[in-house]
Amino acid sequence: MAVAIYPGTFDPITFGHIDIARRARRLFAKLYVAVVANPHKQPLFTLDERVEITTAALVEAGINGIEVISYDGLLVNCAREHDADAIVRGLRANSDFEYEFQMALTNRELAPEFESVFFMTAGKYSFLASSMVKEVASYGGDVSTFVPNTVQAALTEKLRASGRLPS
Ligand code: ADP
Repeated sequence: MAVAIYPGTFDPITFGHIDIARRARRLFAKLYVAVVANPHKQPLFTLDERVEITTAALVEAGINGIEVISYDGLLVNCAREHDADAIVRGLRANSDFEYEFQMALTNRELAPEFESVFFMTAGKYSFLASSMVKEVASYGGDVSTFVPNTVQAALTEKLRASGRLPS
């Protein structure tokens, strides 16, 4: 059965990402969740922290057959190194489409051997974005319906350590 790679910033992973990973695992025997270094986005969490938190969240969600890895540079190079057959991405609303379409066609140009596969999120997660979770958490809001416990704890610790939340 085929192997897929699900790339993202995962800053941090949310129930929306987990929903996509669970759907992808129904079709693919093995799924790599690939955390990108992504210097353009200035993530809240370091790359190592994002790998650690993503791994813990997926264990908490009880999905097997997933390996969390990290990469820097071109996704297609990482996909080749891991013998992937497909690239998985999630779609929330129309607003995701333009960017995802552009990226899928660029990746196809670079590496025609990979298919990009898109999974629609569950309706209840269609508004959910890591940026929104960070904003709510930074004001002390409850994010328990957006992210697993491990992520919630990591967010609180990080925001306290950086002085954005009172300790
Ligand atoms: P990137 O910086 O590569 O967009 P993200 O971590 O923000 O990384 O997202 C990774 C992938 O997960 C993207 O395909 C994105 O559309 C998808 N995604 C993010 N949030 C959700 C969600 N709530 N439901 C479904 N897919 C999502």
